[in-house]
Amino acid sequence: TPVVGVLALQGDVREHAVALAEADALARPVRRPEELAELDGLVIPGGESTTMSNLALAFGLMEPLRARVAEGLPVYGSCAGMIMLADKILDGRDDQQSVGGIDMTVRRNAFGRQNESFESPVDFAGLEGGPLHGVFIRAPWVESVGAGVQVLAELSGGPAAGRVVAVRQGNLLATSFHPELTGDHRVHAYFVDLVRAAAR
Ligand code: GLN
Repeated sequence: TPVVGVLALQGDVREHAVALAEADALARPVRRPEELAELDGLVIPGGESTTMSNLALAFGLMEPLRARVAEGLPVYGSCAGMIMLADKILDGRDDQQSVGGIDMTVRRNAFGRQNESFESPVDFAGLEGGPLHGVFIRAPWVESVGAGVQVLAELSGGPAAGRVVAVRQGNLLATSFHPELTGDHRVHAYFVDLVRAAAR
């Protein structure tokens, strides 16, 4: 059974731990650099990416996280976690840092006032069983991606139709939305499959 950490500095840690358990992984909160060594995969939860960035720096986790990503550790980031995995952030705070790893530019709080929080069906490439129920809470979108990045989902309707909301690059996965809040664990199962494949 793969051991998957949840970065537990801030954000919806418990919801991800529950979803990972449903997807047959052993979920573990991670707060200290040493804890990264024992993991087969890691989730960076939703929350507030500026706070998460501050705390990761304060706890000495930023460089160790970058090192594990560079080694190929599978990491899934939802919402604020997506921002943490982006090589470039638009509308971030000036001193905000990311772990990086996905060759993409994300825009923070991209959907604007009217659409700050909304729900929308999301067609996710490679998932069977119909569209996901996408929960977007002051979410980022993916503004642009490099050649090595696979787009897994874009919005199909509404004012933000065509915006990219899920991507993968190698062992790194990111979604603008929060599958951990829906009781549908297909995205977590997709990630745990990726973790298993990487461990082989
Ligand atoms: N707006 C938040 C940020 O910039 C993300 C919101 C979320 O994770 N639900 O980090």
